[in-house]
Amino acid sequence: MPDPIWLKDVKCPACDTAFKTARIKSSALKAKSMDSDFHKIYEGIRPLLYAVTVCPKCNFGQRNDDFDRVKLEYHPEIMNIAMAIRDSGKNIQFPDSREIDTETAVKKHQLAITFYKHWKPEDPLMIAGLYMHIAWMYREDGAKEREKEFIKHAHEYYIKTFEKGTHIPEKIGEPGIMYLIGELYRMQGDFVNAVNWFSRTVKHEIIGNFPNIESLTRDAWEKINEQKHKTNGS
Ligand SMILES: [Zn+2]
Repeated sequence: MPDPIWLKDVKCPACDTAFKTARIKSSALKAKSMDSDFHKIYEGIRPLLYAVTVCPKCNFGQRNDDFDRVKLEYHPEIMNIAMAIRDSGKNIQFPDSREIDTETAVKKHQLAITFYKHWKPEDPLMIAGLYMHIAWMYREDGAKEREKEFIKHAHEYYIKTFEKGTHIPEKIGEPGIMYLIGELYRMQGDFVNAVNWFSRTVKHEIIGNFPNIESLTRDAWEKINEQKHKTNGS
């Protein structure tokens, strides 16, 4: 199999530094399975490690697609943060390596999250998604406590996404976000809130357009019932 990782030449939109960053060829991705919170598992490769690009000079970081196309001239606040990091000399220097470990990828994600949090208007779905990436990378490593910590952050931003009602991804719609909020409650052991969200999800007026979400919701709800039976010893 040809090497799925390649080094792309990019230029930082904040400080103009040219550098190389590891990317994955999308043609190399073969999904094997998916967890109940939409975490996809691929054969022989962990694309999450390569999902974010960070400038080694000013540490400006974004999802790859955003890094490649973003223009910062109307975002002085973002520029100011990047320039302050660069001028402080405390920037994290990421090497041009094809190999990325979880800790490096987590650091990159955290830098990207910092910049997205200063972006106006804030996109809570983007932030939630990046926190989920971190949780999933820890899950792939079996680091349960750290996974939980980041699920909690992601959860908070999915709730913000729902409340704001903007940037709802078309693929899963509002019912999908509601299911996910419930499922993350379930994963954190809060069954009361999980069931509350699941019941709202299946009653959603457009749930008929998302049969997959409805079936995921019913499966997750069923898991709670099974868990309750076990606890009751019946
Ligand atoms: Zn830069």
